[in-house]
Amino acid sequence: MSTENFETIAIRTQSERSQFLEHSTPLYLTSSFVFEDAEDMRASFSEEKQRNIYSRFTNPNTSEFVEKICKMEGAEAGYAFATGMSAVFSTFAALLNAGDHIVSARSIFGSTHGLFTKFLPKWNIETSYFDVNNLDSVEALILPQTKILYAESPTNPAVDILDLERLGQIAKKHNILLVIDNCFATPYLQNPIKFGADLVIHSATKLIDGQGRVLGGVTVGKADLIREIYLFSRNTGPALSPFNAWVLSKSLETLAVRLEKHCENALAVAEFLEKHHNINLVKYPFLKSHPQYDMAKKQMKLGGNVVAFEVKGGLEAGREFLNRIALCSLSANLGDTRTIVTHPASTTHSKLTEADRLEVGITDGLVRISVGLENVADIIADLNQALEY
Ligand SMILES: *Cc1c(COP(=O)(O)O)cnc(C)c1O
Repeated sequence: MSTENFETIAIRTQSERSQFLEHSTPLYLTSSFVFEDAEDMRASFSEEKQRNIYSRFTNPNTSEFVEKICKMEGAEAGYAFATGMSAVFSTFAALLNAGDHIVSARSIFGSTHGLFTKFLPKWNIETSYFDVNNLDSVEALILPQTKILYAESPTNPAVDILDLERLGQIAKKHNILLVIDNCFATPYLQNPIKFGADLVIHSATKLIDGQGRVLGGVTVGKADLIREIYLFSRNTGPALSPFNAWVLSKSLETLAVRLEKHCENALAVAEFLEKHHNINLVKYPFLKSHPQYDMAKKQMKLGGNVVAFEVKGGLEAGREFLNRIALCSLSANLGDTRTIVTHPASTTHSKLTEADRLEVGITDGLVRISVGLENVADIIADLNQALEY
């Protein structure tokens, strides 16, 4: 049966049934696979046959997970990784050569920033950054040796929205690859390939797992690029474990219903915060007051589960707010069933100078909430009491 419908793809894309005719996909905890005879083995290794050889290369559980993400993102092929960061690193390592150059949004995930500033320069790969609110500045940064244009939307933690179609046009015009980390939106809310992305990366650890259990990552996109990434990964070993792939593939079955509720709760939280007297600013892509509201509406199905806001009183007020939180969790993860509150200026981004923080939209009082699936009245009640400092 062929369908375009997200929920059906998520549930009915399944690895081939075994002789036991199980209903739900079993777990293939096996490091290797056997061959019928010498000829079977030869043909498998020469890739005349498409089949599983060794779980560092492929495994039925990882293949099922990858196939679902490919269908959801409209991608030709993909490869699954142990973490989101191994997906990011392996994508760059497979596609770039010494001397190549990256143009990246300034507001990107912290470890990706670390990769660009601390590690890729060891191989003489440099990165130039553009301000996410000024895409006019992108083209001037592109050099003859630029190979990749990189961005995330919505951004973390300031939930800014980047015009993906515009980035796609710029990449095309300059014949460079557009790579988008689509972690905050998930394939349910946004499909960057439609807007011109060549590759899409996910940390599956976040909303794809959705229950704070396992780590995982995936890169999907054009088949020739995925082939390079696959060959790199087959030799270097960042593969997703079959167990985690099995968990993540099950998680995808409920991604649509979970995201509907996450986004409904997040919008309610954002609307509550917007009216609160102790708040300076609330940013949520589907609030009319968001500076890129129209862009968010154009490229996203719903606003996502992350709300950013600024408490009055700066750094100390942010810390005080966190100390008063009772129900929600103080944790580094996001995209969990449990609502998570973080204060970037005193934690994840405390090593940056205030000027550097401001460049990526992190004011001292900025709080990020990853809105979960608890009853939204309870989430709001907790935030409300914590704001009465
Ligand atoms: C968490 C995250 C990553 C890294 O994923 P891990 O699974 O933690 O390695 C990359 N990009 C974004 C936007 C993230 O939120």
